[in-house]
Amino acid sequence: MKQVKYIFLTGGVVSSLGKGIAASSLGLLLKSRGLRVTIQKLDPYINVDPGTMSPYQHGEVYVTEDGAESDLDLGHYERFLDMNMTKSNNTTTGQVYYEVISRERRGDYLGATVQVVPHITDEIKRRMTLLADTKDYDVVITEIGGTVGDIESLPFLEAMRQFMLKVGRENSLSIHLTYVPYIEAAGEIKTKPTQHSVKTLLEIGIQPDILIIRSHAGVSQDIKEKIALFCNVQTKCVVSAKDVPTIYQVPLELESEGLDEIVVGKLHIRNGKPDLAKWRKLVRKINDPKNTVTVGVCGKYNMVPDAYKSILEAFVHAGAENDVKVNIKWISAQDLEKDKNTAKYLTGINGLLVPYGFGERGTEGKIKAIKFVRENKIPFFGICFGMQLAVVEFARNVLKMKDANSAEVRKTRNNVIDLMEEQKGITEKGGTMRLGSYACTVKRGTKTFDTYKAVNINERHRHRYEFNNRYRMQFEDAGMIFSGINPDKDLVEIIELPSHPWFIACQFHPELKSRATKAHPLFREFIKACKKKK
Ligand code: GLN
Repeated sequence: MKQVKYIFLTGGVVSSLGKGIAASSLGLLLKSRGLRVTIQKLDPYINVDPGTMSPYQHGEVYVTEDGAESDLDLGHYERFLDMNMTKSNNTTTGQVYYEVISRERRGDYLGATVQVVPHITDEIKRRMTLLADTKDYDVVITEIGGTVGDIESLPFLEAMRQFMLKVGRENSLSIHLTYVPYIEAAGEIKTKPTQHSVKTLLEIGIQPDILIIRSHAGVSQDIKEKIALFCNVQTKCVVSAKDVPTIYQVPLELESEGLDEIVVGKLHIRNGKPDLAKWRKLVRKINDPKNTVTVGVCGKYNMVPDAYKSILEAFVHAGAENDVKVNIKWISAQDLEKDKNTAKYLTGINGLLVPYGFGERGTEGKIKAIKFVRENKIPFFGICFGMQLAVVEFARNVLKMKDANSAEVRKTRNNVIDLMEEQKGITEKGGTMRLGSYACTVKRGTKTFDTYKAVNINERHRHRYEFNNRYRMQFEDAGMIFSGINPDKDLVEIIELPSHPWFIACQFHPELKSRATKAHPLFREFIKACKKKK
């Protein structure tokens, strides 16, 4: 297929409707029909990327292979499509303005007044084709962040309008995701917010071709007809997306509503039916687990589960492969820090995960939790900061270095975790951590090797601090194994304790590489160990 087809997805009425899941699900359906599909996200905020935002603001920062700090929806795209996203899959207002203003300073627009239309919209349109230009794709799905009606998203919608006009109706589609609320007092579901949202789009010159209607319990044929009439779309193009027990069921719901059939019809793509056998099996496993395990997650962003999105999804994948449902017990690092009774927080768990983190708050609580599970032989999995604090805990309580700490938390004589050499001169905060994919060599004869069954692996990073190699021998003499090492810089990437049933921690973020139908080996084996513990 020569002509690339473009699908735009906008959202209306309220945020958090699951645009990312809708885009990923459609992507999966098209991919299952044999098409080469990718998805990009356009984010209307002014930050160049979410890397400088707090997890409270934005949830997790998703890191791509090529080291972009990007929106967490890219994680859904990767998990559903089972393929890597790149820097080009996420654009922000910040990036667009940065580019245009740099050009203006260079003198590229000499003589002209630089304006939102056409200069900003031209730059957005240029970015809309970056992925198509690679010639790797038949279909590019573009998800526009925010909600229709927001001031910030206007330039993106205007660019979308211009773009669709240029490539033509047979090569582009506009899908609008909206919400139909149920009003208890009236005993009715209401379509008015959807009508208003579509009206707002029409004002900008965009007529949606398809409406995906989110609702709690689904919408009847009558309601579909009503929405179709008021919103000027065909009735068959009003697609219902009701709440389902797992996000992984959404593609199956949308397929049963005929979404992919409508899309390929409208875009004149001729090809076969989707092959969803593997996906159906996954959903069955998620919805019908044989058993459960409980994993404690001891972090400081617990009130914002989106901060740990990829970790939570990786548990779903690992659970499915182990025929268990993974229940999460949130353990507040700050509360644990203040409390003398550590056991109170950790009883009933079959394993503990200490996730990523930054800064001092809660670290002592995490260290207490790690000590407890190390001594009580409860499976432990540490990720990034979680590994660093496992190193600190071992130094303090096994090597008896009472003042051991990470230099990020406190400068002491024993900074067993210290700033990386290449980080020392860096003062700028944006995009300057050790980011993206790096090689790691796994030591044979370790649990880590049994897990990966490979010597050469690659994993994604996002950190500034690392294990201080000055202490390596002392740790090894006391029984810690450095089971993964970066071969180029000799950095510690994975640690394990062979005397413990399952105690593995890594400097990288394995959760970023877990896929729906291919759980990450570390998560899979950790859950297996939790199951055994239970
Ligand atoms: N704050 C630590 C560092 O910068 C760990 C980062 C993380 O957990 N992603 O090295």
